[in-house]
Amino acid sequence: MSIKENYQSIKNQLPGHVQLVAVSKTHPASAIEEVYGFGQRVFGENKVQELMEKSPLLPDDIQWHLIGHLQTNKVKYIAPFIDTIQSVDSEKLLGEINKEAGKNNRIIKVLLQVKIAAEATKFGLEITEAKNLFQAYTEGKFPNVDITGLMGMASFTDDKQQVTKEFSTLKHIFDELNQLNPLKTLSMGMSDDFPIAIECGANSVRVGSAIFGRRDYSK
Ligand SMILES: *Cc1c(COP(=O)(O)O)cnc(C)c1O
Repeated sequence: MSIKENYQSIKNQLPGHVQLVAVSKTHPASAIEEVYGFGQRVFGENKVQELMEKSPLLPDDIQWHLIGHLQTNKVKYIAPFIDTIQSVDSEKLLGEINKEAGKNNRIIKVLLQVKIAAEATKFGLEITEAKNLFQAYTEGKFPNVDITGLMGMASFTDDKQQVTKEFSTLKHIFDELNQLNPLKTLSMGMSDDFPIAIECGANSVRVGSAIFGRRDYSK
């Protein structure tokens, strides 16, 4: 299928309340421009360097989301323009984003990335860490960030029950924190598991290969 058919097929599978973040990592600016032409405005990249290379080639009204692990020393590069940083996985990183946002006279939207997968390899905050960080935020500790929600990745497995369990855990935490201070975005689900994520309450999904095709890391 073409990128256009892929994109339309994904859009058709998403209920109206679910935001699509089109994950364009490893794909060239020309492919992003094509999807932009279908009306898509929200794109996700996982590497700062790649984002810095591609974003100047593309329209200004794209809302860029950083979805990959972010090193604190790279925050300064994206702070002037990033729409949302979905991958906040430490207090140190949140502090750095707050500082750089302040220097740019901005309030940067962020999601706390919570570790929900059984796999040990995934980045993310432990559940109690996420709760404590959010508590500190509600007490005014990070005035230049807006924590708009949570992000999580399920285990890479065909076990639908396992994935459902992991996404449901994050939805539960989302509801709990939402009582403390209103949240908007629950970002869960990728090409292979976004329908399950939506069943579990996701209202934002991050879809890459199902739109752009398989990634070629050899280039
Ligand atoms: C690459 C990536 C995605 C998209 O993955 P696909 O399987 O290509 O849809 C979503 N979220 C994160 C954090 C990613 O790194």
